[in-house]
Amino acid sequence: MDISVVVPLYNEAESLPELVDWNRRVMEAHGFSYEIILVDDGSSDESWEVIEQLRAQNPCIKAIKFRRNYGKSAALNVGFEAVQGNVVITMDADLQDSPDEIPELYRRITEERYDLVSGWKKKRHDPLSKTLPTKLFNSATRKMSGIHNLHDFNCGLKAYKREVVKSIEVYGEMHRYIPVLAKWAGFKRIGEQVVEHRPRKYGTTKFGFSRFINGFLDLLSIFFVGKFGKRPMHFFGTMGVLSFIAGLFITIWLIAEKLIDIANNAKYRNVTDQPLFYIALVAIVVGFQLFLTGFVAELVSRNSSERNHYQIEKKL
Ligand code: UDP
Ligand code: MG
Repeated sequence: MDISVVVPLYNEAESLPELVDWNRRVMEAHGFSYEIILVDDGSSDESWEVIEQLRAQNPCIKAIKFRRNYGKSAALNVGFEAVQGNVVITMDADLQDSPDEIPELYRRITEERYDLVSGWKKKRHDPLSKTLPTKLFNSATRKMSGIHNLHDFNCGLKAYKREVVKSIEVYGEMHRYIPVLAKWAGFKRIGEQVVEHRPRKYGTTKFGFSRFINGFLDLLSIFFVGKFGKRPMHFFGTMGVLSFIAGLFITIWLIAEKLIDIANNAKYRNVTDQPLFYIALVAIVVGFQLFLTGFVAELVSRNSSERNHYQIEKKL
């Protein structure tokens, strides 16, 4: 099979018939063999009924429905587990991404041998309140990830070689950072393509202002997990031991100073009268806690195989 299109969707009933039909037209016009994997992320509208009708008319549709709403990342993750095509396209369900881009994306993966080609919504049809923070967010991600050639990490329209999606795990809200995950999984050929961005036709956006706060926190965790996730003790342990030793030496020094002064009959200050003593105490406590955190994190990272365990309600 040439192409698998993965579409995560949450309450997008009105858009689905148009989306599926447009994809089918593009695929048939270019003679691709394809499948469309619709992942219903626990919709509360008629999305699933619409999917059942569409599926009855088109056997290329596969569909999965979550029992509850887990988020776009979870939907993409189970979609990726199901794909069979050589090239995998992800696309939002809201008709903001155009299926007409698929043939060019496909060509760049198969002929130019890219591992991942990410869409770039160069001209966006979104309010300024969304585009401005997005700019900041993209430049922070570029710096932290070292992927300097991408302008738009969070574009829903992307194309992948199948091995890429089979080797990465998208969890939490990490769908914003799939190129970073791919890079960490060892896929280096990451490219970009300017794509058409259309205004949302039906329904409303599913992410509010919280996307920016969550996005930033996720950037920190992805950076940290990527660097130290497999060896948390190297980070926490080093910091903890350094802090603990510093505190210990300061305390010993303060006590020794006092004892020497007593022995010499010189004037001395109580250890508890000196600010340095309290700094030393804090350093010891913090150091010990950091060390313990590293130890617990080490135990956790050994037990994380259950991270992607979902309740799948239905499959077609
Ligand atoms: N989506 C999802 N689960 C969610 C939220 C969103 O599967 O919990 C889907 C949504 O249906 C759409 C895509 O993710 O297909 C992008 O969402 P949206 O268009 O609301 O995001 P925006 O374009 O505003 O960034
Ligand atoms: Mg959208």
